[in-house]
Parts: sequence; structure tokens; C-alpha cells
Amino acid sequence: MDENCLFCKIIAGKIPSKKVYEDDKVFVFEDISPKAPTHVLIIPKRHVVGLKEATPEDAEILGYCQLIAAKIGREHGIEDGYRTVYNVGPRSGQSVFHLHLHLLGGRDMTWPPG
Ligand code: AMP
Ligand code: ZN
Repeated sequence: MDENCLFCKIIAGKIPSKKVYEDDKVFVFEDISPKAPTHVLIIPKRHVVGLKEATPEDAEILGYCQLIAAKIGREHGIEDGYRTVYNVGPRSGQSVFHLHLHLLGGRDMTWPPG
């Protein structure tokens, strides 16, 4: 746990969140500022800064987060179209530096993303 990390505090229950799913490896909760009818964040329980900081030892958790996104997409009835997104680096809008996979769905998506 990184004492200064917002998402580590959410995992530890020190900051409240709307939990959607949890297991031994990941924690999933609703985004506080949703950009789609379904907008959840899938985060590893182990503190990883972001995709560009990930190492080969994070390969399994990266894949696992995507599989959890697919499971939640199925359970939320959004399989007609959703996105999984990592924002990487300041120009992407990344604002929290604990790896988080966005799952967005429940509306039409435009391409390319902004
Ligand atoms: P990013 O911009 O990719 O770093 O995404 C960070 C996301 O975290 C944003 O979509 C925020 O709305 C979301 N967020 C920030 N603080 C909280 C919080 N306390 N609970 C839930 N989501 C949050
Ligand atoms: Zn963290």
C-alpha cells in the first residue's frame, strides 16, 4: 500500500467508494465522475503506477484486469459496445497514478476518442 495513493486508500476502505466487484487480485468501483451509463475502474490491489511503468511481472495482472472488464461488461448488459481504456501519461489526461482500467459502456461510442 502506498500511503499517499488515493486508490490504495479506496482499496483499504479508508476512502468510500461504490464497489462493484472485488477478489484477491483486483478491486472494481464506480467512477466518481462517470462518462457513460456504465463507467467503472478496475484496479490491481498491488500498487502499480501505470501502464508505462509496468514490468513483465505485471503481465498477468494486466491481462486479468481485461478479463474482469469483460466479465463486468457481460453482467451489466453492455456487450453491444464498450471500451476498456488506459490513460497513459499527462497528455492522455491520466490524473491518478495507480494503474486503473476504465470500462465505459451503455451508450454509443465515437471514434476516434477525444
Ligand atoms: P484517469 O484520468 O485515467 O487518471 O482516471 C482517473 C479517474 O478516477 C477519473 O475518471 C476520476 O473521475 C476517477 N476518480 C477520481 N477520484 C475518484 C474517487 N474518489 N472515486 C472514484 N473515482 C474517482
Ligand atoms: Zn496505489
